[in-house]
Amino acid sequence: MTVLKERPLGTDVNYNKTILEVKNVKKYFPIQKGLFGNSTGYVKAVDDVSFSVNEGETLGIVGESGCGKSTLGRNIIRLQKPTNGQILYDNQDITDYNESKLRKVRKEMQIIFQDPYASLNPKFKIGDIIGEPLRVHHQGTVKEREDRVKWLLEKVGLEHHHITRFPHEFSGGQRQRIGIARALALNPKLIVCDEPISALDVSVQSQVINLLQDLQDEFGLTYLFIAHDLSVVRHISSRIAVMYLGKLVELGNTEEIYHHPAHPYTRALLSAIPVPNPLEQRKRERIILSGDVPSPINPPQGCRFHTRCPMATDRCRVEEPRFEQKAAGHWTSCHFPL
Ligand code: ADP
Repeated sequence: MTVLKERPLGTDVNYNKTILEVKNVKKYFPIQKGLFGNSTGYVKAVDDVSFSVNEGETLGIVGESGCGKSTLGRNIIRLQKPTNGQILYDNQDITDYNESKLRKVRKEMQIIFQDPYASLNPKFKIGDIIGEPLRVHHQGTVKEREDRVKWLLEKVGLEHHHITRFPHEFSGGQRQRIGIARALALNPKLIVCDEPISALDVSVQSQVINLLQDLQDEFGLTYLFIAHDLSVVRHISSRIAVMYLGKLVELGNTEEIYHHPAHPYTRALLSAIPVPNPLEQRKRERIILSGDVPSPINPPQGCRFHTRCPMATDRCRVEEPRFEQKAAGHWTSCHFPL
């Protein structure tokens, strides 16, 4: 049994170190049909995505629903296995790790889900829910685990005595705090936050964002922060990756993305954010995208965005743009980037 030690978190963070490398990752889900379950095609949920993340940073991943953000997050922490490509965590290639090898790295990689109620077992007390990862990984004695759970409850803004309560006794915001405490139990380094505030009341969204930021500062955490809305990720992310139909279309520093978006899809997402100042709003023209997001089973030829792009030309309909660097650290895949 391992005795729990409080890692002096935050102090050993090397902000120049690459903690995660995603290389040409694809995740195709087979479509099974017919009597014998033959595969008749694939949902190309993630289709050749590459990027890296430094220790201690927050990378926001943004795009409309169904564009592959959650699937990407789940493949990164190996809840799913990529169809192709590589995931390197802390210089280890974890793509083909089996369950026993994954158990070791899973301590360092955690996930916070969108719906805090669905992700907490209603039959378990909060102490058991937060303490479960500690028990599964044989961390500490029963008493040490209980102390750790109480400490975690305090860290996320809840109280000691909540340990004996059940999930239904808490509000949505409090339940998300419980999910965060559970994710922190094993001293992780990397946390995939999968739309952690989308299901919460607007009034508590910023409290949860502030909590995540405080925890990051204190413990030197690295976040992949998934959202469908660019306004949410601005405050928390140092860089932003924009996804469309399984691919990255833009990646860059947050301020660069906000002030100099290169891809028409990013500009459309930005134009949908309400601006408090009406004069500013007038300057920022609303770009309404025509049509629905095409199916990831048969994505459009050429540039995947061409069916909805106000700037599309014949070239975009036949030639797929490469994901290229247009300025230092600013990548995009568009034949006519701004
Ligand atoms: P997002 O998080 O951006 O909303 P998802 O990653 O959840 O997108 O989904 C991307 C695409 O993959 C969607 O078309 C979705 O229906 C499909 N998908 C996700 N998970 C599965 C699965 N387990 N089996 C089949 N298709 C899936």
